[in-house]
Amino acid sequence: MIANMKFVLIILLTVNRAIFYQPKDPYESVRNRMVEDQIIARGISDPATLRAMRKVPRHLFVPPSSAGQAYSDRPLPIGYSQTISQPFIVAYMTELSKPGKGKKALEIGTGSGYQAAVLAEIVDTVYTIEIVKELATEASARLKMLGYKNIITKYGDGYLGWPEHGPFDIIIVTAAADHIPEPLKDQLADGGRLVMPVGNPATVQELVLLTKRNGKITEQRLESVLFVPLKRLRQD
Ligand code: SAH
Repeated sequence: MIANMKFVLIILLTVNRAIFYQPKDPYESVRNRMVEDQIIARGISDPATLRAMRKVPRHLFVPPSSAGQAYSDRPLPIGYSQTISQPFIVAYMTELSKPGKGKKALEIGTGSGYQAAVLAEIVDTVYTIEIVKELATEASARLKMLGYKNIITKYGDGYLGWPEHGPFDIIIVTAAADHIPEPLKDQLADGGRLVMPVGNPATVQELVLLTKRNGKITEQRLESVLFVPLKRLRQD
């Protein structure tokens, strides 16, 4: 009888394991440490932003050969002369954009798709545009594989925004230019926030926060930052 019960127990445990066993993310503890040491320590406190940074598997957004550096305090190359921003910058821009449920966001410069994923953990829908076709294709496949159904990707020139889906509560531009594109200002919803690095794309820029209230735009200049340049498919 006892031997029989033991047998049943072993079967149950095996079945249970097969159904419910999820391989543990080997980077979970290093990711939590990144949030503590690089993000909370530097003053980011928005709970939704911190939750998203703890959740999104950044090591799956960098080339496999860089996975070991994915949680270090710096940007990393993602191919095609482009980079994934330093974790702190992603958290900072996310917090500045005041993300929340019910909001719709537009990101210019999908790159790896990491910033889009962080936003998508918090807001309802993220529209994201990438000008390098290969990166757009890779990011779209990666985001699909990771199960992000609320991110809509597009290959194209983000300077023009995505008017069909606007206005947006949040616009985050992750490439630098010497001015904020007029179409993006137009596509910002009332009460919306736009965050973009503005300055000399070849040297250093300042992170700029635009807020729109009753149709009036207010500008705040924040930290010095270093982003890759915003390119154009053609000038118009
Ligand atoms: N947000 C990305 C990193 C951005 S790097 C991430 O989380 O990984 C900046 C990206 O902006 C690059 O991939 C670059 O190709 C793209 N880019 C530059 N100019 C652009 C434009 N006009 N429209 C859309 N994407 C652009």
